[in-house]
Amino acid sequence: MDKLYGYVGKIARINLTDSTVSVIPTTKYVPEYIGGRSVCNKIFWDEVKPGVKAFDPENKVIYMTGPTTATGIPTGGRTVFTTISPNSLPEQYAWSGIGGSFGAEIKFAGYDGFILEGKAPEPTYLYIEDNDITFLSARNLWGKLVHATQRRLEEIHGNDVKSIVIGPAGENLIRNASVTTSNDNVAAKAGLGAVFGSKNLKAITVRGTGTVVPADSKKVLELRMKMAHPSMLKRPVINETHHGLPGAENLVPGGWKRAQVACSYGCNQHCMCLMLDMKSAFTEEKVNHVEKCVSIFAFAFDQDVPYGGPGGPGGIFQTEQNHFPACKMIAREVDPPDTSDPYFKQEFTPGPGDILDFWKHDFDKGSVINDLCNEYGVDKWDVIIWLLPWLSMGKKEGVFDDIDFGKEIDVESEEFVRYLMDMIVYRKGYYGNLLAEGMARAIRVLGKEKFGDTIYHGRYSRQINKQLDLPISLETAWGHSVHWQGRGFEASIAKPAWVATNLHQMTATRDTQTIQHHHDKFENYLELKDDPCRSPLTAKAVVMGENKAELKDSVTCCDWQSPNLFWTDMEAQMFTAATGIPMTEEELNKAAERSRNLFRAIIIRNYDRTRELEVNAIFPIMQFPDPWGETVTWDEWNDLVDLYYALRGWDKETGWPTRETYENYGLNDVADVLETIGKLP
Ligand code: SF4
Repeated sequence: MDKLYGYVGKIARINLTDSTVSVIPTTKYVPEYIGGRSVCNKIFWDEVKPGVKAFDPENKVIYMTGPTTATGIPTGGRTVFTTISPNSLPEQYAWSGIGGSFGAEIKFAGYDGFILEGKAPEPTYLYIEDNDITFLSARNLWGKLVHATQRRLEEIHGNDVKSIVIGPAGENLIRNASVTTSNDNVAAKAGLGAVFGSKNLKAITVRGTGTVVPADSKKVLELRMKMAHPSMLKRPVINETHHGLPGAENLVPGGWKRAQVACSYGCNQHCMCLMLDMKSAFTEEKVNHVEKCVSIFAFAFDQDVPYGGPGGPGGIFQTEQNHFPACKMIAREVDPPDTSDPYFKQEFTPGPGDILDFWKHDFDKGSVINDLCNEYGVDKWDVIIWLLPWLSMGKKEGVFDDIDFGKEIDVESEEFVRYLMDMIVYRKGYYGNLLAEGMARAIRVLGKEKFGDTIYHGRYSRQINKQLDLPISLETAWGHSVHWQGRGFEASIAKPAWVATNLHQMTATRDTQTIQHHHDKFENYLELKDDPCRSPLTAKAVVMGENKAELKDSVTCCDWQSPNLFWTDMEAQMFTAATGIPMTEEELNKAAERSRNLFRAIIIRNYDRTRELEVNAIFPIMQFPDPWGETVTWDEWNDLVDLYYALRGWDKETGWPTRETYENYGLNDVADVLETIGKLP
């Protein structure tokens, strides 16, 4: 390439063991690997061989921006980390996205990304000022909560720096620890914070004075006007009387205030909910929270998300007239439905969610739970969707009668939740240590049959007026908790949606649904709804969703706008505007497939992934009924897996891509390696 647009040209290799830095030209990887996650996949394939564990110094943290980052293209501020995830079971290579301004600042400093390797001899943080990367002692930061760390770094380096930090959870190697920006954007999946902790790395602080030049500024402006326009305009502060998802809202005594904010540099969408003047877990002063999906569930958990149409909340199956980017509902900024849509009635006929009865609405307690997770640096999802429901259900079923946590289990009590989180984050006592290993591992030590598989009898379907089985552990594949999988708190989505989501999860190594909410067209729904496991349309939609997720983390863009089923070349337009490299939708899709197959090769080479492993990892959760009493049989599930593998060009028996598939995407060398180790079909 003669002149680089979109990229700034350098990736820093940062060795924490010997405090050295070297530089790799970004063009070693792009544009073949686009940016973001696809470049990370290539680096990991090249550099991290089988046998490395998450907390080994040989594990690497690979961080990449995308070509849109800091160009002003909306949603491009999101960036991605990859590493070996300590939170997955078994430990496997995984990824985590993050918003905020850190990625843009890294590019202003002259780097498209960095590779962290080794382990610092003592608590350390990195200070990056333009080209200079220095290793500084973090002895005085170690032990500090997330926001105190952010504040201290701003006192030291000036309040225009951008930092990512870990809290005590990361330091203490809590397997679901997160990494956090100053505005509470987190890389919470994969346990990345614990990998930082294992490397004695408390924070990375950056100031950049450079610029990032997009190739086509006019097109960038056009994209700013068009993406999700006009619904995501800036909103004033609003006084609310209720809180919760539309249809399952709860009264907040005294009311509360919210505003809409954009989470990431350069994004103009203001789709995050900013909750103002909330109760803190640590100080008398009020705090603000940026609310995303999971936050809401800390406040009340006595019924499932109500069923709002065939795709359920978020409009998984959409029409052109009623098209919603994923999860917009949670920002309470959904456009009013277009009632002239011929499918309006089918899409929007409301139905009741299941009664779950885990805990009642408590606004202050919900805020405290959020604050605890934010300040300790823990993945909220694991706490709110898995740990607390498990304790609630298990207590009601008598599972914990012989367990002494040192305090009576009571998830309704703010005091108990504070006690529990403190015990886990600081690894206090036997149970603190055990739960610090994450739910999947803890349950296996305690005994899965009793502590995972015991049935909770309190779930009641109001669709069919029947009590339904639900295990007390909401575990799905790879040591992660259910997420749009038709069971547990998000049970009220219909079978065509949850079989697709389970297929997404099956081929992953972590919870996929934070970047890969399932999307499909309503006309497809009408065709596949009666037998979703036998429809090629299901497999096709899953492949589309996976490829788009690869692009979202590579171009980069955001799950809240992509994929747009009715503007399918949006990501290609973003890429071309940023880089000036002409890219059609088909070419970009091929790049996504290349990245996806490389990810597949990594998990086959490093972790022995096979069809047998992944089918068995996901199947158990689908044997529990959804709100309509629906499950899938072994044969149904395997028929869908056949359809999906065939579409991917993967061998049906092993689940391994064929040589022809690798070579289609220019991965001939990858096929050679896999052939040598006997992992080509
Ligand atoms: S669309 Fe929303 S969630 Fe996505 S980057 Fe923009 S503000 Fe953040």
